[in-house]
Amino acid sequence: MKIVKPTNGQARHSRLSRLSRAGTAGDTQAVDGTPGSRDEGRDLTPVARDRVPVTPPNTVEGLVEEFSLSPRFPTREALEAEVDFWDATTAQWVGDCPRRAEYSIRLGLERREEAPYLAAGKSLHAALAVYYAGAPDELARAEMHRIWALGPDFRLPPNHRFAHLHEGHLDVVLENYLEHARRRDVFTPLRLKKEDLDLTDVLAAKWLLTPDGYIVFGECKLVMRFEVNGEEFIYAGRPDLPAFMSGSVMLVDHKSTNSYLSEWWADQHRFSNQLRGYCAMFKKLVPKHELTGAMINGLYIGAKATSKEFGGSRFARFGPYPYQPGHLAEAIRNQYTWRKMMTVYEQLGYYPQHASKLCGGCPFADLCEASPASRASVIQRQYVARSFNFLDF
Ligand code: SF4
Repeated sequence: MKIVKPTNGQARHSRLSRLSRAGTAGDTQAVDGTPGSRDEGRDLTPVARDRVPVTPPNTVEGLVEEFSLSPRFPTREALEAEVDFWDATTAQWVGDCPRRAEYSIRLGLERREEAPYLAAGKSLHAALAVYYAGAPDELARAEMHRIWALGPDFRLPPNHRFAHLHEGHLDVVLENYLEHARRRDVFTPLRLKKEDLDLTDVLAAKWLLTPDGYIVFGECKLVMRFEVNGEEFIYAGRPDLPAFMSGSVMLVDHKSTNSYLSEWWADQHRFSNQLRGYCAMFKKLVPKHELTGAMINGLYIGAKATSKEFGGSRFARFGPYPYQPGHLAEAIRNQYTWRKMMTVYEQLGYYPQHASKLCGGCPFADLCEASPASRASVIQRQYVARSFNFLDF
């Protein structure tokens, strides 16, 4: 069994320091989807020192994980030093509300009580990545336990909003999902050889390789260059599951949620900038294939998910949402502009509040509700600082 995973020698990544290095806003013009200088990005070179064994259960028979860099960056450190990292999730926070961007990106805050919910989502995502890489169910389950990391006995207090989230609950959700997927999946995970890709604008990539040289794209990490307003714009993303459906490529995005699954729920993702950004990446990466758009793969993980009496949908697919090339260019242009706006807010020393209906579901509502003078103590009581690892997007 070949088992490969990067070392954990990734440099700590301070988003604030990166923001302070950002450029200033430019005039808005048409997005040029074609690459600029291509001289530096013709190939990707696997970084040999990242090939070290990992211990089970985070292994899938025969697959190796490869981390590759454009020759423009001889090392991961060189990439980190030069690239002003900007990923799909980060961008969305700025789009939602500048103040939320300040709390979540600049200060790196996360609501203390949300931690188990975020861990549940991450662990299910990890399990699905292993399953769709072709591994047996037990490896998917083992991966979920590994990422959940709180063990089988962890329980929140009964009155906690996420009291239902524990390992046993997630086991049932995953088992039901795998059964559902075997019966209902109408797509197959995308696997292509490197010669089928256009790597011109890929600065870094992390993905799995099959023994016969096919790339498994599920949960791959990509750092790509775009050109907006004649400026290079570097964008990073980790699409959940690029897949083939009806002869074309589509992005499947897993969303675990405590909300009931419905068209109304899914509508919030219909024009997702994150999904359109991923599609923009894949449009450049797999030029030989038509790209249709994105599909939401909803997993209900609320308290009733494990109840036999529950009459709602435990799992549901929404879409595919078709995107035109203009939608994709617009998504990258949004990202670029939000990035510029972060610099403007930083220079002004003030991140304005959106203060509208988005506040209803915002994890920082407690902070905004508190008087400005008391916010430091609210942060101390109710929030924890997240740390970002380089390439941990
Ligand atoms: S509560 Fe409203 S204003 Fe405050 S960070 Fe959230 S969305 Fe922005």
